[in-house]
Amino acid sequence: MYLANKEKIPVTPRGAGTGLSGGAIPKCGGIVLSLERLNKIIEIDTENMMAIVEPCVINADLGKEANKYDLFYPPDPASLDSCSIGGNIAECAGGARTLKYGTTKNYVTGLNAVIPTGEIITCGGKLVKNVVGYNLMDLLLGSEGTLAIITQATLRLLPLPKERVILLIPYKDIESAANSAFAMFRQKILPSAIEFAEKSAIEAAEIFLKRKLPYREAEAQLFIELDGEYKEQLEKEYNTIGDIALSTGAIDVIVSTGRLEQEKIWEARRCISDALKEKYKLKVSEDVIVPRNKIPALLKGIKEIEKKHNVTIISFGHIGDGNVHTNILSESASSEEWKNKCPLIIRELFELVIKLGGTISAEHGIGLAKQPYINMALDNTQIALMKNIKKVFDPNNILNPGKIF
Ligand SMILES: Cc1cc2nc3c(=O)[nH]c(=O)nc-3n(C[C@H](O)[C@H](O)[C@H](O)COP(=O)(O)OP(=O)(O)OC[C@H]3O[C@@H](n4cnc5c(N)ncnc54)[C@H](O)[C@@H]3O)c2cc1C
Repeated sequence: MYLANKEKIPVTPRGAGTGLSGGAIPKCGGIVLSLERLNKIIEIDTENMMAIVEPCVINADLGKEANKYDLFYPPDPASLDSCSIGGNIAECAGGARTLKYGTTKNYVTGLNAVIPTGEIITCGGKLVKNVVGYNLMDLLLGSEGTLAIITQATLRLLPLPKERVILLIPYKDIESAANSAFAMFRQKILPSAIEFAEKSAIEAAEIFLKRKLPYREAEAQLFIELDGEYKEQLEKEYNTIGDIALSTGAIDVIVSTGRLEQEKIWEARRCISDALKEKYKLKVSEDVIVPRNKIPALLKGIKEIEKKHNVTIISFGHIGDGNVHTNILSESASSEEWKNKCPLIIRELFELVIKLGGTISAEHGIGLAKQPYINMALDNTQIALMKNIKKVFDPNNILNPGKIF
């Protein structure tokens, strides 16, 4: 980095390359710095309940290693089998369990990083609290590889919940599924995850997985995960959820307690993004978030946009967080038509989201993909502050240039 800075050569850090906003693409040429071989779990510290890892440890591998010690690393992006912890930190990744456990930022307590001028910084450590000076560590969370290269992370682990139940709930229509989720919050039940997929997403998953999925005829499905220490407590919760669901438009409630069956249910939810990519020639995936009680208005608005522009828009995702992955799709549009149409649709979607009190990216970042729209979500003062922060870290603009702004 010292040399690249001296010679003003752009450097783009790359973890596992699963990012959905183009962050690891070297827009300005130069060096793509692969972190792939920095892939060791250095320590699982059971006394402090923390892990120290190199940046390209795969998320699920850390999860499995922690489980061996009855510990648990909660952030679980749907790409967990392939994405890296460094990429998760750089994007501040979320996942299905964000609802109860928060996102990556809630688990990072220490970072080693190389800044663009070549110096190495060590922030935090195995410390649960730390308020010395400005919080440089938090500044790196979600910085999309533009401020520093993360070379090591210290992460908080939690005790592994002993019991886990998954409910698969098919609904007669999308509104009922959304309203059902709010009825659960009103009853003060906090599942670890409430995920959602509409019918066409399930159909694509079925083709992708080459196996039949339950209740594919339902207009929408909720995937609900509950976890805790005691079976009785979970039984009580899932019975209440079942009652709420059946009184708000659910067709059935499938309760899954076996690990293998649960994995199959999660597999169906997690493959949707890849399944849509395989089925449709053209796919633009947005990652919008609104206050969760605005989800019905968001889904209704998306359907109106779909109709107006005569495209296919399929929604799925983290409904419990208010975060909907909105996929604009086509099997047949010409690239010219697509190039003209998509930006209009995206802009309308973002206008709707902002009107509802939301924002344009919940977890995938701005990167290249959402760059043209950033001033819809941030004002000039905020953008100027951010640009100045970038200049302090990277006076020659060599680290991942051309991203975010
Ligand atoms: C099928 C699928 C499902 C997904 N589901 C989710 C989901 O549920 N939730 C979610 O949040 N995301 C999801 N994603 C997006 C993606 O997996 C995450 O953004 C992930 O955190 C990216 O990690 P990566 O290792 O692949 O990073 P990359 O794609 O390699 O890089 C992403 C960004 O991080 C930077 N970066 C990578 N490593 C470092 C490092 N060590 N130091 C500094 N910068 C670095 C890169 O420069 C780039 O800007 C999904 C992606 C796919 C393909």
